[in-house]
Order: sequence, then structure tokens, then C-alpha cells
Amino acid sequence: MQIYGLQKMTLLDYPEHVAATVFLNGCDFKCPYCHNFELVDGTARPLMEEEEFFSFLGKRKGILDGIAISGGEPCLHRELPDFIRRIRAMGFLVKLDTNGYHPEMLLSLIEEHLVDYVAMDIKNSFTKYGITVGVPKLDTEPVRRSIDILMNSDRDYEFRTTVVKEFHDEKDFEEIGEMIRGAKKYFLQQYTCRDTVPDQTLNPPSKEELKQYLVVLSKNVPNARLRGV
Ligand code: SF4
Repeated sequence: MQIYGLQKMTLLDYPEHVAATVFLNGCDFKCPYCHNFELVDGTARPLMEEEEFFSFLGKRKGILDGIAISGGEPCLHRELPDFIRRIRAMGFLVKLDTNGYHPEMLLSLIEEHLVDYVAMDIKNSFTKYGITVGVPKLDTEPVRRSIDILMNSDRDYEFRTTVVKEFHDEKDFEEIGEMIRGAKKYFLQQYTCRDTVPDQTLNPPSKEELKQYLVVLSKNVPNARLRGV
């Protein structure tokens, strides 16, 4: 496994834990608002080989609680379970960030208790899913299956949506509320622009719009919250 990015310490990426975040390359979505698009379009170069990463981890025992694995989409990598087994063998907790498009990998990681916490993106209502992830004819069935797997698992999890003014409206959050009714945790995050984002014309929603979306969600997802707003 090649490592494409490493944040050596973060208090933000793994809730209630001191963690490092490792970034893997590749993704099957092409979200126009992606913050890590260089990992998606293949322009990023590897930062280090796996052995160098494990040598770094060896020096962080007792300092870090866990490792957040992000991307790109980590579940694209067949070597992911072995990679996680090595991290766990060193005594670290593991959090996985996923776009929810690889239910088989997700299920096997959960069944083998390889992940302690999963953060899954809910990109939009199913009606607008494909357009929101830059793959207009997307089959949304894998996303449905991943939602079902997480909501029926014994692992800690969260769903989260990066809200973009041009992609999301109240009706979408009505539908999302039905898709994840009763979810343990659901966070709305306000889109922020960066100069690496592929579509520079996109905008964040206002705080008032986000609060209205929470009202809409509250019927089906009382645990929905805003994050970082
Ligand atoms: S799923 Fe995540 S990594 Fe993949 S394109 Fe979308 S925002 Fe980027």
C-alpha cells in the first residue's frame, strides 16, 4: 500500500480521540466539490511506502489513540484489511472514512471487527446522487446497502453530508431523512471552496439554510447536527 498523505496529529478527524490521518489514493466518484481531487484524478504522487508509515506509527505508540484512514476512497484497495490488521496489531483504534460505495468491503471490515468507527458520506438524496458525485448514471444500490450495513452494525458510525448550495435543497433533506431514519449520528458540513476544488463556481449554503435543513431532518433523524459551522 502506498501512502499519499499523512496528517501526523489531529483532534478533529477521529471524534474524541487523538489521531493521525492517512490518505490513500483513488476514488470511483468525481465530486465537483472534492477537496482531495489530486488523489482522485491521479495527479498526486505517493508520499511514502507502507514501511515508512509503520515506522512512523511505531514512534507514536502512547501518543496517538487511533488512525483515521481517508482518501480518496480507501475501500477501493484490496490490501486494506491487511493494512488495518497491521495498524491494530500495534494497538491503535481505526476509523474509516468512506463514500459508501463498497458494501462488501465495509461488511467484511465490520464482521472482522477491523474498524472501530466509520464515517460514511451521504452525498445527496438518491434522486440527485449521480449528479452530485459527478457520475450521472450512478447505480445507488451499493449506497443503500452500505447505509443498511452501518445502521445494523454494532460499530460506532456517523453519516455526513457536505452541503453545497447548487446541489442541495430542502426536498433533498426530506428524502435523506427517510434514507437514514433513526441514524445514530448525522452531520451537515458546510461546503468550503479551495483552489484545488474542480468546480470553482460552487458556493456554500447560508447558516440559515443549514438550520432549516436540520428542522426538516428532525422528524426522521433527531440526532442530526451541524458540524464546524
Ligand atoms: S467521494 Fe470523496 S474523495 Fe471521492 S471524489 Fe467525492 S469527495 Fe472526493
